[in-house]
Amino acid sequence: MSIPLIDLQKQYVAIKKEIDAAIADVITRANFIQGDHVKAFEEEFAAYCEADFCVSCGNGTDALILALLALGIGPGDEVITVSHTFIATIEAILHVGATPILIDIDPHTMNMDPSLIKEKLSEKTRAILPVHLYGQPCDMDAIMALAKEHNLRVIEDASQAHGAKWGGRRVGSFGDVACFSFYPGKNLGAYGDGGAVVSSSEGLIESIRCYANHGRFEKYNHIKVGVNSRLDTLQAAILRVKLGYLEEWNGIKRSHAERYASALGKSDLILPFVHTKAESVWHLYVVQHAMRDALKEMLESEGISTGVHYPIPCHLQQALVHLGYTAGSFPRTEEVCASILSLPMYPELTDAEIDKIARIYESFERCIH
Ligand SMILES: *Cc1c(COP(=O)(O)O)cnc(C)c1O
Repeated sequence: MSIPLIDLQKQYVAIKKEIDAAIADVITRANFIQGDHVKAFEEEFAAYCEADFCVSCGNGTDALILALLALGIGPGDEVITVSHTFIATIEAILHVGATPILIDIDPHTMNMDPSLIKEKLSEKTRAILPVHLYGQPCDMDAIMALAKEHNLRVIEDASQAHGAKWGGRRVGSFGDVACFSFYPGKNLGAYGDGGAVVSSSEGLIESIRCYANHGRFEKYNHIKVGVNSRLDTLQAAILRVKLGYLEEWNGIKRSHAERYASALGKSDLILPFVHTKAESVWHLYVVQHAMRDALKEMLESEGISTGVHYPIPCHLQQALVHLGYTAGSFPRTEEVCASILSLPMYPELTDAEIDKIARIYESFERCIH
């Protein structure tokens, strides 16, 4: 019995009828770009995120780029974010010509440590870009307070946190804008690429809508130099079906996280830390162990797939050497990158499978002691 990190085939089997009908509807109507499904999905997703408006786009990376463009952030501007993220967060800042200013994480939550923001502020700082990594919300109280005090914009990278809550409120409803990815493996995933920006500012959303569709509102009247970054109608139809299950799926993952915690709580593993104000949606279940590579090997040899998100911190990536960071720049980020391991986490995972993973871990611990 092998256990994957995530099982999208099992998920499809469970909702096949509805998905197939949604796809057939789009194809039958030959309505492939924009249209009813896209508009309806945007409304439904905004409501889910407790935001007023949503514009969909081609992928999560574009969502970040479009949001930065609409906020007028570009050359000469600085945006504060973390090194411990998927590289897209930082690529987006670079693609609009702005400078990413990286900071270290809180070693417990593995998210941005807001107490490190102040020392990085300069007259060029325009925005803070918190990433709700692994489905765990950042400390939005501290981040929003700093942003208010220093008149900064806040762009949430919520690509891993559809539905997560901070203080009872959905992520995506705190910042000026929030960006989401619908990459297939995300909590809300399409059957291809997709992304969205939500905001309570209609002006920002309309500006993004314009940039994302060749800088136009009307067919041949282009008012900006834009790009082509639209959510396929097929993907919108699929996402509408899956959005209907998201709360249920996130709830099942929450109970999986509890089962992992009670099965592994008394071990040498460092388990994910959840702040009392945070409600995670468990995009990934990330544990830490000093002998991570040996543990990974043992689990894989027993058919358990695992992942490392992410093995090389962004500030040490070859593509980003020009930012001038070196080994030692962010000690907490570097330390967790060497010890983190993502265990299987998806709604279709069974209690028996979690118990099996826990048993294999126990035998690993016996081996090394
Ligand atoms: C997935 C992801 C992105 C990028 O999304 P794509 O849809 O793959 O372009 C950006 N930021 C984070 C934190 C992500 O996990």
